[in-house]
Amino acid sequence: MKTEKPVNEMKTVFPSCSANESFARAAAAAFLAQLDPTLEELNDVRTAVSEAVTNCIVHGYRDTIGQVTLILRFYEDRRVSVTVRDRGCGIPDVPLAMEPLYTTGGAERAGLGFAVMESCMDKLRVSSRPGKGTTVTMEKRLSRRITHGG
Ligand code: ATP
Ligand code: MG
Repeated sequence: MKTEKPVNEMKTVFPSCSANESFARAAAAAFLAQLDPTLEELNDVRTAVSEAVTNCIVHGYRDTIGQVTLILRFYEDRRVSVTVRDRGCGIPDVPLAMEPLYTTGGAERAGLGFAVMESCMDKLRVSSRPGKGTTVTMEKRLSRRITHGG
C-alpha cells in the first residue's frame, strides 16, 4: 500500500460501545458519497468497516470500553483505504485468527469476520501486538463511473 497524499481523508474516534457499530458504518458511507460509489461498492465498504469495528468492540476491549479509531482516505485513482484501530488485548497469532471459522468468541460468533473483510475489499492487512492492540488496514479501488449527458 503506497504512502502518497490522499485527495481527502477523515478520522473519527469513538468509544467501543455497540451503538457505534452503526455509527461507524454510516460515517464511512457518508464520507464515500463524494466518490459516487455503486451501491455494491458502498455496501462492501460498509460491511468491512462493520466487521472490523465489531471486532474491536467484542474482542479487542471485551468487557471494557476503550477507544476505536476509524480512518478513511481516498486517492486520485479512486483507491479507498480504511484503517480501524484499537488499543485493546491484541491478537497473539494473526494468521490463525484470520483463518475462516477460527473464533475465540464462543458459540455466538462464526469466525468469519476477516473472511468477509477479505471478500469485500481488495486488500486486507492485520497487525497486532498482544497487550497493545490491533490495526486493520483495508483497501478497495472503486470503479470509474460512466456519466451520461452533460
Ligand atoms: P464473527 O466475526 O464471524 O462474528 P469472529 O469475530 O470470532 O466471528 P473474526 O472476525 O474472523 O471472527 O475474528 C477471528 C478472531 O480474531 C476472533 O475470534 C478474535 O479471537 C480475534 N480478533 C479479531 N479482531 C480482534 C481485535 N480487534 N482484537 C483482539 N482480537 C481480535
Ligand atoms: Mg468478527
